[in-house]
Amino acid sequence: MKEVETLGIVLYNRDYKEKDKLVKLFTAKAGKQMIFIKGGNGQRFQSKDMIQPMSVSQFVLNLNDQGLSFIRTHSDTKIFRQIQSDIFLTAYVTYMLNLVDMAIEDRIHDQPLFSFLLESINLVERGMDAEVVTFIFEIQILSRFGVYLDFEQCQICGKIAQPFDFSWALQGVVCQNHQEQNLNLAKEDPNVLYFLGLFSKVDLVLLNEIKIKPDMKRKIRILIDLIYTEYVGLNLKSKKFIDHMNDWLS
Ligand SMILES: [Zn+2]
Repeated sequence: MKEVETLGIVLYNRDYKEKDKLVKLFTAKAGKQMIFIKGGNGQRFQSKDMIQPMSVSQFVLNLNDQGLSFIRTHSDTKIFRQIQSDIFLTAYVTYMLNLVDMAIEDRIHDQPLFSFLLESINLVERGMDAEVVTFIFEIQILSRFGVYLDFEQCQICGKIAQPFDFSWALQGVVCQNHQEQNLNLAKEDPNVLYFLGLFSKVDLVLLNEIKIKPDMKRKIRILIDLIYTEYVGLNLKSKKFIDHMNDWLS
């Protein structure tokens, strides 16, 4: 058993036996950890905020490599009220939490991913377009799935010369000089690839506002979905929910 003091984000919780809970935390210092909360499902449990999905707390944890891990103390719990009062924002953030859970193994320390997730949630809470934050999140987390796509330079001549198309065969963009070859091209609107290039390198901390028209967002959504189907292959309920949600709106 080792003791770790760390910030942690709740990815999800679930009932365990009659009165207990299991909570999946993504921590800054010890990666993802499954934590046992004795009495967490009981009427008299006091710390309900602390085990809510997407809440953030400062924890002292007792971590076991085998068997269950425990919370010794928690403090400074932060709840994202804007997100939690809005079903659409909640859906996008839940999907990002699910992606993190799928992307890396438990107990793997990944401070950059932790900061990236926390910053993404903060941006949605502060009113940044949740759909755009999710696009950026999806593109930048691809590397954690072992998928490396190059949206910056032509995969054949290396030129940074837009407009680009996307080659499924080369896992990256190609310039107009090379679009005649058999590269399994996406025949994509070059503006979509411009945005994916931007998303792949943007620093969230410096991000103020990216405004994208609904029609362009629909096109970006379609290409990112194709990329995930082709290279990642997830089947997440939270993503299906977003898809249905967008159907209600259109
Ligand atoms: Zn080229």
